[in-house]
Amino acid sequence: MSDIPNSIEARDRAYQLHPLVDLRRHETTGSLVIDRGEGVYVFDTDGKRYFEGLAGLWSVALGFGEKRLGEVAKAQMDKLPYYHIFSHKTHGPSVELAEKLIQIAPVPMSKVHFTSSGSEANDLVVKLCWYRSNALGKPDKKKIIGRIKGYHGVTIAAGSITGLARNHASFDLPLDRMKHTACPDYGSMALPGESEAEFSLRMADDLEKLILEEGPDTIAAFFGEPVMGSGGVYVPPENYWQEIQRVLRKYDVLLVADEVITGFGRTGNMFGSTTFGIEPDVMVVSKQMASSYMPIAAILMNEGFYAPIADESARIGVFGHGYTASGHPVATAVSLENIKIIEERDLVGNCRRLSPRFLAHLDDLARHPKVKLRRGIGLIGALELHPDGEPGRAGAAMASAALEEGVIGRSVGDAFCLCPPLIITADEIDAMFAAVGRALDRLG
Ligand code: PMP
Repeated sequence: MSDIPNSIEARDRAYQLHPLVDLRRHETTGSLVIDRGEGVYVFDTDGKRYFEGLAGLWSVALGFGEKRLGEVAKAQMDKLPYYHIFSHKTHGPSVELAEKLIQIAPVPMSKVHFTSSGSEANDLVVKLCWYRSNALGKPDKKKIIGRIKGYHGVTIAAGSITGLARNHASFDLPLDRMKHTACPDYGSMALPGESEAEFSLRMADDLEKLILEEGPDTIAAFFGEPVMGSGGVYVPPENYWQEIQRVLRKYDVLLVADEVITGFGRTGNMFGSTTFGIEPDVMVVSKQMASSYMPIAAILMNEGFYAPIADESARIGVFGHGYTASGHPVATAVSLENIKIIEERDLVGNCRRLSPRFLAHLDDLARHPKVKLRRGIGLIGALELHPDGEPGRAGAAMASAALEEGVIGRSVGDAFCLCPPLIITADEIDAMFAAVGRALDRLG
């Protein structure tokens, strides 16, 4: 007989390795056990209710407990629980979802490839960039530029494009081919008197300098989130994306828009690329694509990206890549239904309509003595707190205080981030911020 107590919490500590914790500390502190969800709320095993202010991991657009997704999953499980798309096979749900994504894409796209996670998708985009450069007879054009504080996942290639020390330390990352340019953090990095447009120009100049130092013929692609999420919610300043795209075009560098958080309505348009006038060659989507009810992500690529890859596979005789779960019928069926619901209920419009209220609450809290500034757009935002002693700890203290007040948010350094489900109502926004305000007061 095991001497591990029979609770979920104790068995969790005994058997499970958790992401984003100090593993040794976790052995004693353990986890909050979430038992069920309903709308914008989740409940722990004692029945305590929490406002899910981060929509899980920036992802549960429809909130918790959307029955239609469960029904579609069950029907697909009963009809065809699994099939693959290798070697000239296919199935309806993957085709329907691919077609839907092409139809709603913000710019003309040609082909879709499904993966199970955002990390895998970004990893594959790197492989495709390398494959494509080889196809074009440019074997040196392999370097990838990401941004400091950018987040693109944790696989070896995606983790290397990520610009966060916590995801690199002791993993021997980043790979040599991955370079990082500045984070467009206008709030903290602007020079005295520098306008947003001037700051954006400076960011583009920095990027150009990096490209010239490395050699333009060695740079394949630039990866960027339209709004940086996991690094602490950084909304690009005026003209940022226009200036960045000008430099990328000048040096024939591909643009990969990582819309894993911004996709499907988060910034008030279906895609962040529309909000900021981004014209990506490749787009990566996940999270709100299926409200995280199923693990799924997708890469959308334009014809100019696809064509050399197709030619190269014809030369070799096969495209030597594929995941068992790519286009999984249950995941694709659930995602399609999820997108239909986002459209039917006009959740993108809901985000647009409620955003001023969400941002006004952030403005209000930005006047609190503990808060340095706020960032936000659509229904995603962050409060940057004044450092509490050593920099980088204030966010965690705030997240604990918020949890006490019944709100789950995400701390990143000194920032506290919010990104509630897109189904949220005006009253729920007011209630969430009232609790966040009480949490700030608790910090003393
Ligand atoms: N890109 C972005 C912009 C993300 O926010 C995330 C996840 N937070 C990823 C990629 C990685 O996705 P996953 O966790 O599904 O691998």
